Amino acid sequence: MNKMIEVKNLQKSYKTGKAVDGVSFDVYKGEILCILGPNGAGKSTTINMLTGALGWDGGGIYADFLKGKSIHDDLPAYKRRLGVVPQDLAIYEDLSARNNVEFFASLYGLRGRALQEGCRFALAFAGLTDRAGDKAGTFSGGMKRRLNIACAIAHRPELLVMDEPTVGIDPQSRNHILEAIKRLRDEGMTIIYTTHYMEEVEEISTRIIVMDHGKIIAGGTKEELKERTDTDKMITIEADGLDTFDSDTLYRIEGVKKVSAGAGTLKLAVIPGIENLDRIIAVLIEHGKRINSITTQAISLETVFLNLTGRSLRD
Ligand code: ADP
Ligand code: MG
Repeated sequence: MNKMIEVKNLQKSYKTGKAVDGVSFDVYKGEILCILGPNGAGKSTTINMLTGALGWDGGGIYADFLKGKSIHDDLPAYKRRLGVVPQDLAIYEDLSARNNVEFFASLYGLRGRALQEGCRFALAFAGLTDRAGDKAGTFSGGMKRRLNIACAIAHRPELLVMDEPTVGIDPQSRNHILEAIKRLRDEGMTIIYTTHYMEEVEEISTRIIVMDHGKIIAGGTKEELKERTDTDKMITIEADGLDTFDSDTLYRIEGVKKVSAGAGTLKLAVIPGIENLDRIIAVLIEHGKRINSITTQAISLETVFLNLTGRSLRD
């Protein structure tokens, strides 16, 4: 994999305390790198240093396309390759969608036909072609978010940095944005995406960094993160006659860690990979229990996060 950017031991404090505390990671060409973490984890501070908007107190950020030099050694050259979607909307409400995109694209140096072409591409990508002539101020929250993205991609950046671009929008706009991000990656763009929504990470990430309290606490693909979690997988079985069933017999099955029996429901915590579901079912049938339904719940990133930090992402 081609390394694009190297973030090394980044440090940043505000008067309120340390916001980013020794963060290191690489960004590889063609990936969708999701930075996942609760509010206040330090995602935006990290992202703002990565885009060159904010300086750091220690560490550094080095770009391959600057021959490994610090991004601050040639910030204009670095920024030309970047598209930035800030956490807070940065659009002009009094301008039309088209004029907004044109304005930002021209800041990146697009002129004439390239400008027109770039704007057409960006507006179409955001699903705003039909509303291109309307003032941004008349748009719904979701449309404004989409316009915010359009403004960042008209110049077709190599690296697109998005900070929580789907906060507070309708599911339809969110789906549109997630699909668009995957298509941008298919076209060769590299994407860094921060969020506190696990579902989004599940859907689009090719790699994940989990942040909490200014530090990276885990990293890898979704599969790797889930594998490293020794959390149990849950199996829920609904069956008749469980009140007369000695659930201890299930402990003899390999992989079964915990059994709790309720009225008509049996919950089993099993070691992922060695569920032995067939043997569990066999024991129940042997004891003359009629099974009504079986559901298994895979490990979610939510569980991974809970396991890592001892709290839910939605705290
Ligand atoms: P996230 O984007 O993950 O929600 P931030 O990077 O915005 O996290 O914030 C990290 C920490 O730094 C938080 O405790 C936040 O209150 C603090 N912080 C962020 N920006 C500022 C600022 N401009 N001044 C003072 N403290 C800040
Ligand atoms: Mg933030």
